[in-house]
Amino acid sequence: MPDDRSLRAETIDVKRDGGLRVVFGDGHECSFGLLELRTACPCAACRGLRDQGQAAFDPATMVADLRIQNAELVGEWGIRFAWNDGHGTGIYPFDLLRDWCTSRAASTTEP
Ligand SMILES: [Zn+2]
Repeated sequence: MPDDRSLRAETIDVKRDGGLRVVFGDGHECSFGLLELRTACPCAACRGLRDQGQAAFDPATMVADLRIQNAELVGEWGIRFAWNDGHGTGIYPFDLLRDWCTSRAASTTEP
């Protein structure tokens, strides 16, 4: 575990019908939508699906109004969501979330 403030979550805001907002130790703020989080679920089962070229979550065939039913911190390094589609095994490490946030910022051109 690197002792890096940029990888530590200082503020964690879960909106069950909106998504996740994290403010990291260096003040950097990242927001993630429900669909984005669910689709990118890092659990082994979802990784396996993506490895086979399948979507880990398909809103067309699964629950339409995706929501977080429960959110639980996993030590200081991650957060686990229980989704209303019955899925709940994915743990989202904060360093991974930070990674997503950084790569997204690099690939989009915001004004
Ligand atoms: Zn999963």
